[in-house]
Amino acid sequence: MNFAHDIDKKVFRTISEITTTNQQKAYIIGGFVRDLVLGRPSKDVDIVVEGSGIKLADQVAKSLNPNIKVSYFKSYGTAMFKYKNIEYEFVGARKESYNRDSRNPIVESGTIQDDQLRRDFTINALAINLNKDAFGEITDPFDGFLDIEKGLIRTPQDPQVTFSDDPLRMLRAIRFATQLNFRIDDDAYAAISKNVERLKIITQERINVELNKILLAPKPSIGFKILYDTGILAYIFPELSDLQGVEIKNEMAHKDNFFHSLRVLDNLAEMSDDLWLRWSALLHDVGKARTKRFLDGHGWTFHGHEFVGARMVPGIFKRLKLPLNQKMKYVQKLVGLHMRPIILVEDVVTDTAVRRFLFDAGDEVEDLMTLCEADITSKNHEKVQKYLNNYKIVRQKLKTVEEKDRIRNFQPPITGEMIIMAYELSPSKVIGDIKKAIKNAILDGEMSNDFDEAWDFMLEFAQNQGLKLKKTKKEVIEALSQVKPEDDR
Ligand code: ATP
Ligand code: MG
Repeated sequence: MNFAHDIDKKVFRTISEITTTNQQKAYIIGGFVRDLVLGRPSKDVDIVVEGSGIKLADQVAKSLNPNIKVSYFKSYGTAMFKYKNIEYEFVGARKESYNRDSRNPIVESGTIQDDQLRRDFTINALAINLNKDAFGEITDPFDGFLDIEKGLIRTPQDPQVTFSDDPLRMLRAIRFATQLNFRIDDDAYAAISKNVERLKIITQERINVELNKILLAPKPSIGFKILYDTGILAYIFPELSDLQGVEIKNEMAHKDNFFHSLRVLDNLAEMSDDLWLRWSALLHDVGKARTKRFLDGHGWTFHGHEFVGARMVPGIFKRLKLPLNQKMKYVQKLVGLHMRPIILVEDVVTDTAVRRFLFDAGDEVEDLMTLCEADITSKNHEKVQKYLNNYKIVRQKLKTVEEKDRIRNFQPPITGEMIIMAYELSPSKVIGDIKKAIKNAILDGEMSNDFDEAWDFMLEFAQNQGLKLKKTKKEVIEALSQVKPEDDR
């Protein structure tokens, strides 16, 4: 098999020239070769050379364009540069041995064969020769090419040793199985189940890289089912595996909330590539294990699971070392509000309900609707169509009310500052009460989102509280619109 035609690029020709002159063996290896065979695009290329990867990177970069900036990772003996938007990483061929407490091996220089043997999977051990006499020829010591054809993830060495040495490889196996829709070979699968606890030497950040790649795959459920089945999920993410199972009482069963969540995630993956929206889908029912009840004469309920779930999100994010910023708040918001559009469908939809939903959902309205559409997992096609159609009506209604009342991101027209000024108050609870009353009156449709109407509403409300107006509307507006010179400095 020869790939000379596929790698006929300036960079590869330059490496070929230099290493042939140096009398060094050099190959393209790993993911790039795998993806070339699969016809997938790839944005990073690994070059392995017998000798120093760092020296070779320098020589190649200099010859391509002296301005290229080479980055060095001296402790790993690697160097990298970017050329025409593709990253080239250079490494010297090496032999590895491991000790039990670390996934970082003891490294010594070796041959190309040694280097192929240290690779995680047969499909990642393929190499393409760059030397002139064999340019483009493939070296495939472990039948990786055949495994690509079969769609098989297999380790070059005893998987028990491979996974125990570097347990991250277990997650990589599951991630590749998900991204490529490949099957993990039986021995490797069994070895993963046996080595789950070895994950304790892997940092959470590395685990997250793989979890996020699984979530971003076209069909993420593939990976989560394997994580569950091998016991990894119970080890790294018990809140999710706790959702698995069906209980039957008085001949009534509830659905399996784990597999339901995965179906929702797959549905959502067809609608959006947004990582955090996908996290929201994965976690939307996470509160169900804790809220499950059987009510006589009614059946199974998960009352309040969305609120319990939303309250669980910060703890989950903290333990998993996921970002505790706006991303977390976003996921929490979606989990907490995911039942609201369902209620909008069920009831005769009043404008008040729609306005309250718009106010609470803010910028996340669209994503919430998408999540709810993904949450339809009935196998009955007619039902699915009916629900989707109902959501279409809700979307329309949201649009109409929003255009009319501008509720999304709405700030009550009377601010705390105005209230303080009008009544010459010092900060006190009554200010919040007035603001809240104005907000509710607008959301309930008692008045529109308008300053003058809100002012009159405030006058009446404050009078009932025994407050005396100290400044007129005009005075308040003027005072607030005046530019205060000392604030300008
Ligand atoms: P992708 O870039 O899509 O994540 P990849 O296979 O290129 O996939 P990289 O992390 O870029 O993955 O690694 C490049 C190559 O290095 C792999 O193809 C594999 O040969 C080798 N490799 C990476 N991580 C490991 C590991 N933990 N154990 C053994 N070999 C590894
Ligand atoms: Mg790669």
